[in-house]
Amino acid sequence: MNLLYSLIPILLILYYFFLIKKYGMSNYAHFLIQKKTGSNCFKCCEKLHNKNYKLSLCKSCERDISVDRVLNHRKFLMSKFDELFFNKNFENLQSFILYLSVGSIILTILMSLFQVDISTIYTNTLLSIYWSLTTYRLKLVMNGYKKSSHNDNERI
Ligand SMILES: [Zn+2]
Repeated sequence: MNLLYSLIPILLILYYFFLIKKYGMSNYAHFLIQKKTGSNCFKCCEKLHNKNYKLSLCKSCERDISVDRVLNHRKFLMSKFDELFFNKNFENLQSFILYLSVGSIILTILMSLFQVDISTIYTNTLLSIYWSLTTYRLKLVMNGYKKSSHNDNERI
């Protein structure tokens, strides 16, 4: 059971690197900045022409969200949830979880030197949370990538 559980973070890491390879690390970094600074709509990736340096939505996504607010509350909350992944504090949360995981790994190793067996469940849970959040953000950042390709963005 423990062994099976430790496979979850490994599978998530593999999936993350599979996605990075698929989209390209430079595209990911590019769109992350574009979306964070409001150069592209953070939902559908459409190029925006504003200079407010804030997370922004295009007209049609803005309309969709206001419709969801009334008609589909679950979808509306999901949009609000997705927005958190572009927040400044998201990276702090990521680092915090990573530090906790590393601390948990060191503690497990140290304790094993004294023949005290600590379950790896805590470490695996932390790592699973970390990699789920990281992978989910990658998916959000690359959302709409095909619709507006990298080259189109450069040209406009
Ligand atoms: Zn949009």
